Amino acid sequence: MNRIIGLMKKYNVSPIKSLGQNFLIDENIIEKLARAISPKPGDYIIEIGPGLGSLTERLVGKSAVLYCIEIDKRLHQIILERFGSFPGFYAGNFDVLKFNFEDPLPGYEQGYKIKVTGNLPYYITTPIIMKFLESDFDFDSMYFMMQKEVADRIMAKPSTKDYGALTVAVNHYCQVRPVVSVPPHCFSPQPNVHSAFLEFKKRSAPAYYVKNKDFFFQIVRGAFNQRRKNIINALYNYPGLHLEKEDIQKAVESMGLRPDIRGENLDADRFAELSNLLYKE
Ligand code: SAM
Repeated sequence: MNRIIGLMKKYNVSPIKSLGQNFLIDENIIEKLARAISPKPGDYIIEIGPGLGSLTERLVGKSAVLYCIEIDKRLHQIILERFGSFPGFYAGNFDVLKFNFEDPLPGYEQGYKIKVTGNLPYYITTPIIMKFLESDFDFDSMYFMMQKEVADRIMAKPSTKDYGALTVAVNHYCQVRPVVSVPPHCFSPQPNVHSAFLEFKKRSAPAYYVKNKDFFFQIVRGAFNQRRKNIINALYNYPGLHLEKEDIQKAVESMGLRPDIRGENLDADRFAELSNLLYKE
């Protein structure tokens, strides 16, 4: 019997679908994830949703501090029983969406390199990635399992159907690298989607200069909110921006762009340029 399925039986855990509990059972894949994260002394690793601990067991005992955040009380207890005696191991039983960046991290010391990882329910993966990116949280890298379609959107090139606000936002802050693609049979129970594990390395400075980060993201969201419309109309119609049509037309023209250009045709640098032209202090 597979070892992780054995753990499910030993602890009498029946997976809760609403918490996205599809446990990784493929040892080769788990090893590849651990190798990408590569725990070292001086690392502070936050693992979100450790489940039964298939990845956790490859991250503990490597002289890195490890903090596991799990919403399910049963799994939190199992994690504590399995790893609680390791030095530098900490566990919290709460919803990561309520993670407060102001709270002190257990066992954290100045100078630690923060790495965040998780194989999360698919519906919270994007909100969690955005929550960490948009905060001023000082992380070094993130490693997340996600639905293949979300990974495709994050790594999309301009003028393709997958290119969108998520692509621009993520690449503004991070350099993204695909680690491994993961078919459904690597999990138990099997999800009905393919998955991919991506590495997000935080850039030392954002990829392009923007005068105002919030305004830049509003422009990006506005451009993709009505992605079939040209960028002038999309931005003009986007609630919350309150831009004059004439100002948008002028900015687009001064960038040497055609008036019928759409958001999906602009690369991230040009979005930055456009938002800087439209931003009023
Ligand atoms: N990491 C384990 C693995 O790879 O086998 C479990 C992965 S399973 C897809 C998702 C895990 O995230 C479950 O353990 C689930 O209970 C936990 N989880 C779901 N929602 C959560 C939330 N909002 N906050 C923290 N953990 C959550």
